[in-house]
Amino acid sequence: MRYSVIFLIGFFMLSGCKEDSSGNNQRALDSVVAQGSSQQGHWSYEGETGPEHWAEIEAGSDCNGKFQSPINIVKYKENTNLKPIALYYANKTKIHDVTNNGHSIQYNFEPGDYIVVNGLRYDLKQVHFHEPSEHTIDGVRYPLEMHLVHINDSGQYTVIAVMAKEGISSIPFEFLESFLPLKPGENKIVDFPFDMNDNLPENKEYYFYIGSLTTPPCTEGVNWYIFKEPITVSLEQVELLKNLMPVNNYRNEQPHNGRQIYVSRD
Ligand SMILES: [Zn+2]
Repeated sequence: MRYSVIFLIGFFMLSGCKEDSSGNNQRALDSVVAQGSSQQGHWSYEGETGPEHWAEIEAGSDCNGKFQSPINIVKYKENTNLKPIALYYANKTKIHDVTNNGHSIQYNFEPGDYIVVNGLRYDLKQVHFHEPSEHTIDGVRYPLEMHLVHINDSGQYTVIAVMAKEGISSIPFEFLESFLPLKPGENKIVDFPFDMNDNLPENKEYYFYIGSLTTPPCTEGVNWYIFKEPITVSLEQVELLKNLMPVNNYRNEQPHNGRQIYVSRD
């Protein structure tokens, strides 16, 4: 990791990012380090560094792959073999910190929460937001999409997506947002327990397909579980997140390329 940080600092010094202040360069660097995945990290949601250019900017990434996310969830097949997701979320698991990484607001979790998918354990690492949603369901785009990012011992990802619609305010969101606002590049220690179960819809039926991370390096082979039922948050709760994140921090719809989408039934 230390080597890659040094490499990144060198990269930014040599490449002379087009931004106008060293503060912005530092912010870009922070977001790369915070994400811990990208080697170049100069991507954004618009213009010359927007999603259409991610494949060029992020050389060696999967961003031009065939099985990318997000997608429009349509033409799904009911699959009675799909079991409920085995969620092992505990009320004592702590959020370690919250960061504005310049792309999203992200809550990083201490070890404790996990899920089991196909007999493999995936640990919950972080939760972040997209406004509006990245996935669409039957063409419908929701005001907000929350991603619960899990990773297993082999470095493979399973992401649970929860859509939010506008309505009555959410008590879990009230807690999460009590640590905001945060400027891009800013980070705050949370060190409080958070019960992720409280932040999920009651009905746990889901859509399932295999796709990718929706941000560079767009890594493929990601198990996507998208709850059918949205949770409800207030307009003010959506607006608070929206105002702290880049405008429209969602990636455009990616082609299915023959992938099957399944829907579970309890
Ligand atoms: Zn996401």
